[in-house]
Amino acid sequence: MSTRAQQYGAQVLRREQLSPHLIRLALAVDGFVSTGVPDEWVGLVVPGQFQVRYYTVRSHTDGELVLDVVVHEVGLVTEWASGDCVGDTVVVTEPKGSFELPAGAEWLMLVGDLTAMPAMARIAETVDLPVRVWAQVADDLPGYLPARAEVAWLGDDDSLADVVAALGWPDTPGYFWMAGESADMRAIRKHLMRDRRLPATAYDVMGYWRASSARQPRAVDPGPIYREGKAQGLSDEEIWAKYDEARS
Ligand SMILES: Cc1cc2nc3c(=O)[nH]c(=O)nc-3n(C[C@H](O)[C@H](O)[C@H](O)COP(=O)(O)OP(=O)(O)OC[C@H]3O[C@@H](n4cnc5c(N)ncnc54)[C@H](O)[C@@H]3O)c2cc1C
Repeated sequence: MSTRAQQYGAQVLRREQLSPHLIRLALAVDGFVSTGVPDEWVGLVVPGQFQVRYYTVRSHTDGELVLDVVVHEVGLVTEWASGDCVGDTVVVTEPKGSFELPAGAEWLMLVGDLTAMPAMARIAETVDLPVRVWAQVADDLPGYLPARAEVAWLGDDDSLADVVAALGWPDTPGYFWMAGESADMRAIRKHLMRDRRLPATAYDVMGYWRASSARQPRAVDPGPIYREGKAQGLSDEEIWAKYDEARS
């Protein structure tokens, strides 16, 4: 089975500063087909670079692909998106998604930081279940999440591990989705598996970025790992653990 992802040339049509740390880019991409999975992501290669970074498809309508890019202290895409990138040509890879609602799910709980907001917003907009969101976001983002979502805004000092450990879990079946810094996510995955003993089908916890002081994490495309893992019958949790390993 080929694990090469299809690539598309794309052009930046618009750039909009949604908040101090969040920039919306609208791209024109011919031939792009969304998977419809609400946390689907693409790889993005910006001009003059060969390394890939991964971004959630915030929306895809009428040939326009929208990505909401977090700008943090320093970074390859951060620096590019912070400048005037309108008109630039970039490469995006074919989309892949990981969100997989189990049969009979009656609710959704979503937890994440600013990088997870695009996926949490799209999930909350498109999945017709009662949804609660815990968002660790420093910027004000009024209206970013749909009004029907019940949202708890967390402070910078809140530990996501503590927040998850303190969650009240409904007795009915549902789905827990979370993304954020990789080491935090690894610990939370362990907690859900070992302490809460949730079946792997009941949650999806993804390391979206790695805090690194000494060196950059290796840029590893989650697409092939995801496809290979699925072909081997691995659970999403096992696949995301493999992705973490590949980047260390
Ligand atoms: C499936 C998937 C979906 C994603 N969706 C989105 C999305 O929709 N929007 C989005 O903005 N990001 C998203 N991310 C996260 C994004 O790919 C990373 O944050 C990426 O490292 C940013 O690239 P960069 O070039 O700006 O920084 P890099 O060059 O990768 O990193 C430079 C430095 O910044 C640090 N760093 C990286 N990301 C962050 C951060 N978020 N906060 C603080 N420090 C950081 C690194 O540790 C490193 O030291 C997603 C990741 C995955 C795997």
